[in-house]
Amino acid sequence: MTSIDKFNFAGKKAFVRVDFNVPLDENFNITDDTRIRAAMPTLKKIIADGGSLIIASHMGRPKKNPDPKYSLKHILAHVSECLGVEVKFVDDCMKAAAAAAALKPGEALLLENLRFYAEEEGKPRGLAEDATDEEKAAAKKAVKASQKEFTKVLASYADCYVNDAFGTAHRAHASTALIADYFDADHKMFGYLMEKEVNAVDKVMANTVRPFTAIMGGSKVSSKIDIIENLLTKVDNLIIAGGMTYTFTKAQGGKIGNSICEDDKLDLALSLIQKAKDNGVNLVLAVDAKAADNFSNDANTQIVPVNEIPDGWEGLDIGPASEKLFADVIKNSKTILWNGPTGVFEFDNFTSGSRAVANAIVEATKNGAFSLVGGGDSVACVNKFGVADKVSYVSTGGGALLEAIEGKTLPGIAAIKG
Ligand code: AMP
Repeated sequence: MTSIDKFNFAGKKAFVRVDFNVPLDENFNITDDTRIRAAMPTLKKIIADGGSLIIASHMGRPKKNPDPKYSLKHILAHVSECLGVEVKFVDDCMKAAAAAAALKPGEALLLENLRFYAEEEGKPRGLAEDATDEEKAAAKKAVKASQKEFTKVLASYADCYVNDAFGTAHRAHASTALIADYFDADHKMFGYLMEKEVNAVDKVMANTVRPFTAIMGGSKVSSKIDIIENLLTKVDNLIIAGGMTYTFTKAQGGKIGNSICEDDKLDLALSLIQKAKDNGVNLVLAVDAKAADNFSNDANTQIVPVNEIPDGWEGLDIGPASEKLFADVIKNSKTILWNGPTGVFEFDNFTSGSRAVANAIVEATKNGAFSLVGGGDSVACVNKFGVADKVSYVSTGGGALLEAIEGKTLPGIAAIKG
């Protein structure tokens, strides 16, 4: 692979895979353009060099071709505005050869939603609900076969390939991974956003400065098992917070009242506690809870020991002793990963724990720690608390980041790195 900074795009056509999967309202107005803005440094560098852009993305989950609700036409004007160049549009990503060939240096072309074609994901479409296994296998084989041609056509538009779509890096799709095979190592690279994401993950998971603390929150253990298992081989401290706390508490014989709990994961919780001991990991669990008498912002509350939650009450956040316990560990860390809130942070009366974690991360970062915040809800937390620019890196890739933390190889990254 080469690097975007080193590459001179003058006179070159670049196929740039971006993640423009932005939310739209019912009138097709963009409600959050973060992802579009995030790709601009890459797109602008290519234009400034005198290259031309073939910009490609997916949006939503279209089920047919065309599927006007998911047309990238809705975002064309805004992309032009952000880029400062009038971007052309082709309403069929398989029919862009002439438009791509006609691009002059400094010009840009946006392709219609790649997922209008089943070949982008390589998953069959339109199978009858009662399709037999044989029919399913045949349909899959067919789409995989035509995926090769689809990928080849996309690759034929350009001289070089830039992947700046970290959000889809965990998918082995035509435009995120397979296309890289059509370019040699000197003509494929990460975009700036992707580079930042990859470097942030490497700093945390590979080139770790210790002590390394991970804070895992959220509602359920079951959705985070693979991550927790992998982190238990990497971290010095693992703070468990959020709803999954109560599965651990109950597994150890505590009283949790009506708190959220996965009764079929009690043994798993105990085995994770044992694994932490075996690996010398300091597993930090909440010691107190802010309990509520119903699941609402206006509920009556009391602070109780985490293992003595009265019947009829449920833990909706950690209590002040846990806040201090967690903050002390975080402040003494040199590498920090935060995924998931400590409580129901959507209710203003139950944000205190998540805020304490965020503040401790900010302080540690000021003192030289590297902090990575990722996964939907913790990103929402740092935004809500106005501290997103006070941590080292806020990841844009939910699923992709989680898979990277699980220790999986991401196809979009592997395809470029070779
Ligand atoms: P996740 O998607 O697994 O990261 O979970 C995030 C969700 O967990 C948020 O919507 C929180 O409201 C929820 N959550 C965190 N703590 C609790 C809790 N103690 N009880 C119920 N839900 C919680």
